[in-house]
Amino acid sequence: MEYAPDRPWYMRLHWQVLIAMALGIGVGLLPGGEVVEAYVGWVGSLFMRLLKMIILPLVITSIVSGVASAGSGRTVGRMFGKTLGYYMASSLLAALTGLLLFNLINPGRGYPVTDTGAPPPELATPSSIEDLINTIVPDNFFNAASGGEMLMVIFFCIVFGAAVTTLPESPREKITSLVDALFKAMMALTTGIIKLLPIGVFALLLTTVTTTGLESFPNLAKYVAGLGSGLAIHFFITLPLLLYFWARVSPWKHVMNMREPLLVAFSTSSSAATLPVTMKTVRERVGVSRRVSSFTLPMGATVNMDGTAVMECVGALFIAQALGADIGVGTQIIVVLTALLASIGAAAVPSAGLVVIFIILGAIGIGDNPQAMLIVAAMLSIDRPLDMCRTAVNVYSDSCAAAVVGKWEGEEGIDEEIRM
Ligand code: ASP
Repeated sequence: MEYAPDRPWYMRLHWQVLIAMALGIGVGLLPGGEVVEAYVGWVGSLFMRLLKMIILPLVITSIVSGVASAGSGRTVGRMFGKTLGYYMASSLLAALTGLLLFNLINPGRGYPVTDTGAPPPELATPSSIEDLINTIVPDNFFNAASGGEMLMVIFFCIVFGAAVTTLPESPREKITSLVDALFKAMMALTTGIIKLLPIGVFALLLTTVTTTGLESFPNLAKYVAGLGSGLAIHFFITLPLLLYFWARVSPWKHVMNMREPLLVAFSTSSSAATLPVTMKTVRERVGVSRRVSSFTLPMGATVNMDGTAVMECVGALFIAQALGADIGVGTQIIVVLTALLASIGAAAVPSAGLVVIFIILGAIGIGDNPQAMLIVAAMLSIDRPLDMCRTAVNVYSDSCAAAVVGKWEGEEGIDEEIRM
């Protein structure tokens, strides 16, 4: 997943995945497709299990290391507030854009779910503020973690990470270096699992095609269209507006200065792998100081994922709609809020966004629905190109945050010209 532009094309994961997608569909459509599926279908389930296995430790270490890396002290506290404010606002706008597009496109309507005779699932939505608090604030962290209550886990990790930033240097250092080390180990494990992506994608797509034929593709295409438009709106309209109105920065100059990290993000599908290029570019081309960029960018890479927030929102509602569930306003509000939290919890590696979609499905009460699992599998099999786009949006939002916070901190010379 590391950025290695000189590797031959067939060694690059995105090409391998695209080939696996074509093979999965091709073999699935052949007369003996079912027979092959009977032999290799379990590989897709295994791949999904591996992804689910890493959610909890990855989310915990990713959030704590992201938030706690902020450092401490008064100036840092002030910058922390501004940065977090920007991150929350931009991700919320992203999730709302996702919501709007979902309502316009209704991608899940008519999805060919297998008829089991069971009625459509009732979505669980908190009916009062107290109910909502009870789904987010844990009374026992360990129960929450072992019960897969990811919203509670995320809440605890954010406040724990913030508390760590207030400690004196010695204990703060000890905790951050330990969590950082654990996070790196989790990233290494995740990277290893993601290397299996082409095999997983082949098996998952084969299962999708042999079970529902190509019938699910029109719905999947609508999901792709909804998500793609949401990402485009956020990239081309919302973020430029934030840049311009919050910092008087020229969006055109900013995007031109950021061209290289955007391409790297697109080709690696990983904000973390892109981080070194992002940091270098934001300092040298965008012109943000080391102080602000080394604060905003590493935290942003793990915590601020606007593209992922769009996807969580469209994706989770797509699944609920495909199952025939009744999606009311309450559900939509919960999905937006949990999409925000899930995007904070997603690690900056390929496909992490789709992994944390289980957080939202859990929050609306369909986390264990077997049909929902099949739809997630179908979405996973076509996720790579979408992941490439949302990662570029994630990285772009981080660089916008650096420019905006730099301006708010009184820095001059940010994006004054396009630097070659
Ligand atoms: N791949 C994305 C990133 O690294 C996360 C996601 O899957 O949404 O930013």
